[in-house]
Amino acid sequence: MNDFDVIIIGAGASGLMAAIEAGRRGRSVLVLDHNPRIGEKIRVTGGGHCNVTNREISSGHYLSRNPHFCKSALARFTPAEFLGRLAEHGIQVQERDHGQVFCAGSARAVVEWLEREALAAGVLIRTSCPRCRGSAG
Ligand SMILES: Cc1cc2nc3c(=O)[nH]c(=O)nc-3n(C[C@H](O)[C@H](O)[C@H](O)COP(=O)(O)OP(=O)(O)OC[C@H]3O[C@@H](n4cnc5c(N)ncnc54)[C@H](O)[C@@H]3O)c2cc1C
Repeated sequence: MNDFDVIIIGAGASGLMAAIEAGRRGRSVLVLDHNPRIGEKIRVTGGGHCNVTNREISSGHYLSRNPHFCKSALARFTPAEFLGRLAEHGIQVQERDHGQVFCAGSARAVVEWLEREALAAGVLIRTSCPRCRGSAG
């Protein structure tokens, strides 16, 4: 196997977003998933519409040993920025109670968008991999 700067285990929402950002910064990135399809939870949650974000998100909604981490993470990438990215790619959303934002159509569009962005950033994605295991050493 080639050498990669970054290897990400799990092609879910987190892994794909991290892969896209790393790829855009010029890193060679490999994403491995044991499932045959990427983004499976995105596709099936929220009754197929996926609760993509919440407009009223704040650091007070998170429990953490380091509360400052989430303040800085949320300040650097806000729900509005994420919604802006979806809008740029023609993915329409619908706001429900308490600021919850869902895809207006199928969440499949989000998975397809993440896959396109990852491939455009040069990310290599491999599915149906043997399940990766942690190592004690
Ligand atoms: C019923 C339910 C409904 C939910 N609804 C929503 C919702 O509407 N909106 C929302 O934001 N969140 C929802 N969530 C929470 C949701 O799980 C997370 O928001 C989101 O999936 C987290 O993404 P992730 O990438 O961290 O994890 P995941 O989506 O779980 O991705 C992890 C990936 O890693 C792969 N993987 C795991 N272990 C290995 C291994 N050892 N080797 C190889 N691959 C591996 C998995 O196959 C998977 O593709 C819901 C959760 C549940 C259980």
